[in-house]
Amino acid sequence: MSPVAAADAVKRLRAADREIILLEHTSAILSWDQETFMPHRAIDERSAQLSLLQGLIHRRVTDSANEALFEAAGCSAENAEGREDLDAADRAFLRQAYRRYRRATRLSQELVERFAAAASRGQAVWAAARAADDFAAFAPQLSELVELQLEIAERIGYIDEPYDALLDQYEPFTLTSDIDRAFGELRRELVPLVEAIGSAPQLDDSVLRRDFPAEQQAAFGDKVMRALGYELDRGRLDVSAHPFATTLGAHDVRITTRYNRNFFSSAVFGTIHEVGHALYELGVAEEYHLSVLGEGTSLGIHESQSRMWENMIGRSRHFWEHFYPILLEHFPQSLADIDREAFYRAINRVEPSLIRVEADEVTYGLHVILRFELERALLNRECTVAQLPEAWRERSRELLGVVPERDAEGVLQDIHWSMGGMGYFPTYALGNLYAAQFMETISRDLPTLWDDVRRGEFSLLLDWLRRNIHIHGRARSARELCVDITGSELQAAPFIRYLKQKYGDLYGI
Ligand code: ZN
Repeated sequence: MSPVAAADAVKRLRAADREIILLEHTSAILSWDQETFMPHRAIDERSAQLSLLQGLIHRRVTDSANEALFEAAGCSAENAEGREDLDAADRAFLRQAYRRYRRATRLSQELVERFAAAASRGQAVWAAARAADDFAAFAPQLSELVELQLEIAERIGYIDEPYDALLDQYEPFTLTSDIDRAFGELRRELVPLVEAIGSAPQLDDSVLRRDFPAEQQAAFGDKVMRALGYELDRGRLDVSAHPFATTLGAHDVRITTRYNRNFFSSAVFGTIHEVGHALYELGVAEEYHLSVLGEGTSLGIHESQSRMWENMIGRSRHFWEHFYPILLEHFPQSLADIDREAFYRAINRVEPSLIRVEADEVTYGLHVILRFELERALLNRECTVAQLPEAWRERSRELLGVVPERDAEGVLQDIHWSMGGMGYFPTYALGNLYAAQFMETISRDLPTLWDDVRRGEFSLLLDWLRRNIHIHGRARSARELCVDITGSELQAAPFIRYLKQKYGDLYGI
């Protein structure tokens, strides 16, 4: 096949890809509407609309003409990037497009449908089992889902173990062994750190449970998100039950939040978190717009952006030097007797708890490690579904020093497994690790960083993130970004250093 024909094949694959992305963004608009403004009774037709679009997307991705086109471009299992005489942008495109094609075609329609049905049943059974605190009611469903995920992993193929194939859906080009190495290091350091914090005098966060009217929270949140650089002519903020960020187009990345009148942290830190996701997607280079390269490269890198803004910036002392006086203007009564330092200490209180979604930034990683170890053991057949509740309690004791009395607060607390989402959890903790590793480079590159934050000035930081991370979209993998930026692969040490410094100061340890 001549290079001209290869270039022509790439051109046709790119045209098909553009339509796939347009369909995906159209589908995202319908999902966004469903979560925000859709009237309740529209749900059945909305489901039909979404499943029609998903079917169209699947047909475009798996189109039988694609095989010959990828072949003409020189793509194979060993060489996803195609012919070496193609330019770098085309090769980056082929790597992602071919990966998507292979994943979609390796699973039969029958298996995809069987999995979708089991996942949808799984969620319903899980919700009832959690409400009744009855793991045995969920166990058969979970066993079926584990077997299905193993079948999927076998069909897709993997390097070392089945978990690789599942992880790859969320964290492409990262292996279970990479995670295992980083989490092992994290576990060794975090457990004693949490114990030391537990034996130190505790911080008081009762101020966060005073009265914070939603309108005032919204007005303050608006100031924060504008200051961070979220452009409201390319996005918007609405309210939903579960906060999220979603990409409806290259110039339309929207976020949601929720207001809790008696708990300050959820809306403000939730908004900062989602702004972090949105800034990433809005920063992708124009040449990648409307293509498979036009979004964040992995969930772990995505979380690195949201958590850097939320925790490293938003929960820093410097941040509140600028924003605390503004916050006082919005809540003159509720915060009248609280000084800035007391507020800073309140928003950084650490407490080992049973529930992952309520965990602070120190203990959060331990919740993730617990889930990663268990789901990996299930897939390697080192643990059975029946043994899971006891294995959960044991690990919870080892890692967090707390043991759930009810499975509803233990093994049944998360929705992920019931949806067939094994392999997803590690990305939550990877975000913290990548963020801390990037932040060490950023602090060297931007010596005025913390002075800027103190003045509520974030443009240099955002510009750095755009140039080094956002602009590349999916043209660089998480591993490539990490090595390019920091000179080494993923490590837990920078995150540990960050925690020890911040919490050593807060807890006097
Ligand atoms: Zn997130």
